[in-house]
Parts: sequence; structure tokens; C-alpha cells
Amino acid sequence: MNHGKVEFYRHRLTPEDANGIADVLGTLFLTSGTVGKAVEADLCRYFGTSHATLVNSWTNGAHAALLALGIGPGDEVIVPAMTFVASANIVEHVGAKPVFVDVEPDTLLMSIKAALAAVTPRTKAIIPVHLYGQMVDIKALKAALADRPDIAILEDCAHCFEGELDGDKPGRHSTAAIFSFYATKNVTCGEGGALITNDAAFHGKFLQTRLHGMSAEAVDRYRQATYRHWDMAILGTKANLPDLLAALLPRQIATVDEMLRLRHAVAARYEAALADLPLRLPRNLDNGRHARHLFVIHVPPALRDDVLTLLGQEQIGCAVNFRSVPTLTYYREKYGYTADSFPVSYDWGAGVISLPFYPTLGTEDQDRVIAVLRDKVAPLIAAKA
Ligand SMILES: *Cc1c(COP(=O)(O)O)cnc(C)c1O
Repeated sequence: MNHGKVEFYRHRLTPEDANGIADVLGTLFLTSGTVGKAVEADLCRYFGTSHATLVNSWTNGAHAALLALGIGPGDEVIVPAMTFVASANIVEHVGAKPVFVDVEPDTLLMSIKAALAAVTPRTKAIIPVHLYGQMVDIKALKAALADRPDIAILEDCAHCFEGELDGDKPGRHSTAAIFSFYATKNVTCGEGGALITNDAAFHGKFLQTRLHGMSAEAVDRYRQATYRHWDMAILGTKANLPDLLAALLPRQIATVDEMLRLRHAVAARYEAALADLPLRLPRNLDNGRHARHLFVIHVPPALRDDVLTLLGQEQIGCAVNFRSVPTLTYYREKYGYTADSFPVSYDWGAGVISLPFYPTLGTEDQDRVIAVLRDKVAPLIAAKA
């Protein structure tokens, strides 16, 4: 039978969203201005933090955050092995050492025990990743680090805009939480992100490192009536988000919880239909709200690439989120990691597949994905067992 392709993801921007961009085109300002400021106020309201700043990607925002913390050569930053490369790459970019730790076998979230065991006098930060949309217990991590207030906690919230744990949203117990508005993320403007924090001193530094290191007053220099000189005291990067892209965000932020209800319904349908198949799924925490960024399954690693090929032949869009970062060539060759260094991450990364997943995934398309898993993938696994 000839079916249309089931896409891996779909954004929900429409031609109507172009109106916001047209409004920006009608102003003098194309880059960071009043539109972005309004979105930052929306983010402060949503997350209940005192500060929010838009950035042009998670990666550049996190890079600026490490620069604001003064992290560099000789310093160590703890990062889970099961994440996207960006979480570790930013540590390399500032010349510090990413110290990988393994994840929990059921949730695939960073093991707090492993992170605490990896702390040394050189540790300057920990980057817990709220993988797939579930939150690492930041409150517990912070409490366990009570004797090391010098260690910053930067939450990687690329998967977790809507998530909560014990009623707390991201940014509540950490130094800062950083979001991605990349094309596939739950809230998107194509490329973008945001940092939220309650730490005014850190935020002041971050405003500088996000814009070359220019003194904070200079950030709004175009709006000043008479020219004032600016200074540069710390080295920064270029991570500000232009209003042209920020204009795409307000409608999505206003409806994100509504969309989350649809995401939960799609996820629940998958979970019910796949429950009796020989697949592993991450455990859902019962004390949190899952942001439902990705829907992942795990098949025996020896069969994963065959299953990817089969899904491709069936025109089902899929992805791998993620292969264990320390076993990718750059990190393996630089630090000598092997598959055994972080076995839980390695095994998960060798068998994981992300299925088509988005709020508007229709039941017919979803049923086709389920049918292929049930009628073709499950027998393949059974035959090789
Ligand atoms: C997407 C992603 C990032 C990077 O986000 P960008 O905005 O593309 O820089 C970082 N961490 C995780 C876990 C991601 O999935």
C-alpha cells in the first residue's frame, strides 16, 4: 500500500505568525528590542523567576553562562553522558573539562549519586539535563551540594519547557535554567533559546557575556539620546536573539500548556498500544509533570539500525536521541572513553529510537506507526531473541 510519510515532528507556526515579523520590519529595530523584552516578561511570569533573557540558541546561551561564571581552563563541569553533544561542547569551548557521569537505567536522567561522586575541588558547575522532558531532582542535588555553594547548577531545559517536579518548575533551585527554541523543540522560533535565573549578580554578568562582554548600559545604547562610551571588562560571545525571531514566540508561550495536554494524549496512546511489545520505555516519574518533548523506545542494540531502516522504508520519520556522547569520536579520542565507561548511557544510546511525536499527530498516522511496530518490528525482535 502507498501511504504518505508520517513526519517525525511538526511545528505549529502558521502564516499568521508572519504578522509579528512584519510588525518588526516596520520598526527601526530588527535585533534585540521591545518584542524580545515582552517575551522575557512572559517567561518570568510563566516560570516565576526574576530574570529571563532570550538567546539565539541554547548552545550560545550556555556558552555565555559559563563565561559569566568565569569557568575556563583547569576547571571541571559535570555533564551526563546521555544527552545532545551541545551540553558537553560548550564546556570544551571555554577550555574546561567535561566530566561525564552515567544516567539512571529507568529514567535515563543524570544519576545524582554519580554526579556527587564525580565532584572534585576543580568542579565549577553541573549541567543536569531534563532528558525527553522529565526533570532531574534539582532540589535534592542542590541540598546535597550544601557544602559546595561555589558549584553552579545550569539546568539543560532544551527538552523541558513545561516540566515540573514536586510542583517546581525549572529555574527554581538552580543557578540558571537554559531553554532551546530550535526548530524541533516544543516552543520554537527556528533557532533560539532563553536563560532564566533568580540570581541578580549572575544575570548582570550574563547580560554582558551574552553580548561580547560589553558593559550592561551599552546593551541599550541605541536607545540613548546622547552617545555614551561603553567598556568591555570580561570576554563574551554573541548570543542575543533578534526581535525578528522573538516575534514568533508569544503565541506559543501562551498556548504551551494547552499543547502539552495534546502531547500527553498522544504519548498515552503510544504507551497503551506498545505496552505488550518487547520494547523498553523510560519510566515516568509520578511526582512530576512530563514536558513530553520526545517519545522514545529502546530495541535490542544489535537490531536498532535494522529497525531504523525498516521504519525508513515504511516512510515513518524517526531519529536517535542520543548516542552516548563520550563514545563519539571527538570525546573518545580526546579522553579515551570506551563503551564500558558509562554502560547505562551506552546501552540506551545503542538501542534508542525516537518515534513521530507532536501535538497534532493524527490518530491515523499514529496507528500506522503502531501497526509497523506491532506487525514488523516486534516479530523481528522475537525472531532474534
Ligand atoms: C537541542 C538541544 C540542545 C541545543 O539546543 P540549540 O538551541 O540547538 O543550541 C542542547 N541540549 C539538548 C539536550 C538538546 O536537545
